[in-house]
Amino acid sequence: MINLTKEQILQCINILGIKGRKNSNSFIMCCPYHNDDTPSFSIKLDSFYCKCFGCSKTVSFNKMCKDIYGKSAYELLGLKNDKLVNYFFKQSFIKPEKKQEEIRYITNIKGKLLDVFSNDNIYTHLKEYRRLTDNFIKEFGITYTNFCEINRDEKAIEQDDIKGTKFFHRIMIPVYYQNKLVNYEGRDYTLNQKPKVLYPKNTTKPLFNFDNLDFNKPLYLTEGFMDFAILYQHVSKNSSCIMGNQLNELQIKLVNKFKQIILVPDNDDGGKVLINQMDEYYTEGDLYIVDLPYGIKDIGECEIKNLKECISNKKVYMKKLIDDAGLFK
Ligand SMILES: [Zn+2]
Repeated sequence: MINLTKEQILQCINILGIKGRKNSNSFIMCCPYHNDDTPSFSIKLDSFYCKCFGCSKTVSFNKMCKDIYGKSAYELLGLKNDKLVNYFFKQSFIKPEKKQEEIRYITNIKGKLLDVFSNDNIYTHLKEYRRLTDNFIKEFGITYTNFCEINRDEKAIEQDDIKGTKFFHRIMIPVYYQNKLVNYEGRDYTLNQKPKVLYPKNTTKPLFNFDNLDFNKPLYLTEGFMDFAILYQHVSKNSSCIMGNQLNELQIKLVNKFKQIILVPDNDDGGKVLINQMDEYYTEGDLYIVDLPYGIKDIGECEIKNLKECISNKKVYMKKLIDDAGLFK
């Protein structure tokens, strides 16, 4: 996870005299953690991680050096631990979206929003596949549409301004802020439309469920709505999601109202971007990170029992950095 350069990793391999074969993005060697005579241990040169396809060992490059050769990569290269933070996620750093001056609302909907309880396919999708209870569906006013158009402006003078945003075959989740309807998340239920999640153009994206949140309690924060649904139903009602993996200006303002945030990011590059943004822009409280089990992409794929266990193992952000790097192991 540390952004040692490819050259630095190769330098360590050279110093240690490790035998193996270099591909464009990895170095393959015999696994030092099991009795391996066909090379099955891969050092990822771009992500600093190592994985064995024989025994499934996953380890940071730094820790592997320490475990097997007695010196960490950092020691081999003469780098100090306190430089660690500066190496993190430099490349994935992304600025927040441009400033949104005013709150925009949903002003009109042409077409029908329908009752999900009257459609067996959609109801089953929500209940079985998405694990939503009837109460949750009712509480958040979830409907579906075969077709609708949102925020069509008949009074606009320019032809282009008249057009709203069209939603076909989507589950519709209303988004409120300050008790007003500011957005709709439209999730494709056919599972073959793009984008999978659609919002009307020029709408405000606050933190989901913001009006009901208690600033004095820990906030459980995740990326997508369906992951939020699991947190809300099984972990804490003081949960929210950002409906994406990048914070906007309004969301940065809102997260800073909380004294403690427990972030459950996706287990992918988007999740890393969000962790990085939270580290940069959430300055008013303590940030905890929940690591999902290895191989699990998001909360939606996670068993509730495992999710709860991961949450109880949450780490303060700085401690996570150090553990991931394997510095003191
Ligand atoms: Zn192995």
